[in-house]
Amino acid sequence: MCLFCKITNKEIPSNIILEDENYLAFHDINPKAPVHILAIPKVHVDSFHELSPEIMTGMTSFIQEIARKTSIDKSGYRVITNIGENGGQEVGHLHFHILGGTKLKWGHFADADPKGLF
Ligand code: AMP
Repeated sequence: MCLFCKITNKEIPSNIILEDENYLAFHDINPKAPVHILAIPKVHVDSFHELSPEIMTGMTSFIQEIARKTSIDKSGYRVITNIGENGGQEVGHLHFHILGGTKLKWGHFADADPKGLF
């Protein structure tokens, strides 16, 4: 069972901020911004590339609710999902990063300054 399935099953503790029947949101263990939440479907989906439109539909309003609950809906935020090896995905269970609470720069979600990398 993958790491985020174990978090869904409460076999591994996490700092949950929002949960319903189909989705779970918890604080990232290594935050890159003042607000850094991970939103996942409870059902195992490897990545965005395997995601069905039906799950994405519910995920959209779930992410919007996370933004309201963390009070970043008015100030703005960033939603990121990394896909596969070149996308930098480390955990093989689809997750959306929701980042906010400050004026975000690329450095909030990059290993290096992207200038000159391509
Ligand atoms: P990614 O590189 O897009 O796959 O992101 C994986 C994210 O999961 C990273 O930001 C990690 O800090 C985060 N992470 C890994 N293990 C845990 C955990 N047990 N609880 C919360 N977040 C985690």
